[in-house]
Amino acid sequence: MNRYIGVDLGGTNLRAAIVDTDTGQIFHQRQRPTLAAEGQEAVTQRIVQLIRELTRADGVPARAIQAVGIGVPGTPDMDTGVIQFLPNLPGKWLNVALEAIVQEQTQLPVALINDVRAITLGEWIFGAGRGAETLVCLAIGTGIGGGVVVNGQFHLGIGGTAGEFGHHVVEVDGLPCGCGGRGCLELYASGPAIAAMGVKEVMHGHTTRIGELVDHDLNRIDAEIIAQAATEGDPIAQGILQRVGMYLGIAVGNILGVISPQRVIFGGGVSRAGDLLLTPILQTVKERVHVIPVARVEFVLAELGINGGLVGAALWAKRRCEGG
Ligand SMILES: [Zn+2]
Repeated sequence: MNRYIGVDLGGTNLRAAIVDTDTGQIFHQRQRPTLAAEGQEAVTQRIVQLIRELTRADGVPARAIQAVGIGVPGTPDMDTGVIQFLPNLPGKWLNVALEAIVQEQTQLPVALINDVRAITLGEWIFGAGRGAETLVCLAIGTGIGGGVVVNGQFHLGIGGTAGEFGHHVVEVDGLPCGCGGRGCLELYASGPAIAAMGVKEVMHGHTTRIGELVDHDLNRIDAEIIAQAATEGDPIAQGILQRVGMYLGIAVGNILGVISPQRVIFGGGVSRAGDLLLTPILQTVKERVHVIPVARVEFVLAELGINGGLVGAALWAKRRCEGG
């Protein structure tokens, strides 16, 4: 048994577990609210605390933990272990040497990775990506992230930045994005973007199941509500998912043209809409992509759920320790 700790630093929750990297099994899972508004130092201390708890958990032999992997919602420089900024987390995360800080306080080797790159690694080794030589993973949630495996290699690019599918341009003169670009996919197909489309429909006074499901409380509208209304046959909700699927389909088509993967994995909270989203994605891909043999690409949902990020972060720690 190879024991590594995987940490998933999320906008809402901070989660950690011991992962057996030989089997992908997880043990002693812990969860705390991130409370990101308390600032970077408080969040870092909570991470250190969780790691300490796990190293002392019942039945874990002393010094059994080999290293720690931390998945973060942003693009840490994986070569230096420094976070430049975390767009989806409040508080100042400018030039934070998180890897070195946690390493010093826990006396364990630490490796940082983008949260969706971690999910990609987890799904590739133990989930929906098993056996694929070339794949891409898209996680659609509060943001849209991704990861890439090419010819049996986990492809990271410069400083680990490969796979930023959320910032593919899908509208040339589109809305300005938090990344500094314009017309990015994330603005048209993430959870908050889907919710905003639903809010707009209700505000315009359209008769839709979306409003009924939340007693016309606009704050309660989220992507899950839209999916539920669509399942119940609401044409406005179905139209929203059709449009979102089209944007995702355009981005997936672009990805196919660059990577030509055997498999495309969809994860993240929004992907729980399943066929409601997959159907328009595939429809768009089939209509628009003709230079890649689309019929030979498998489109699948992620299998590991919220544990994918923990397993992947632990696998990344192992790779870094082994110099891989
Ligand atoms: Zn962007």
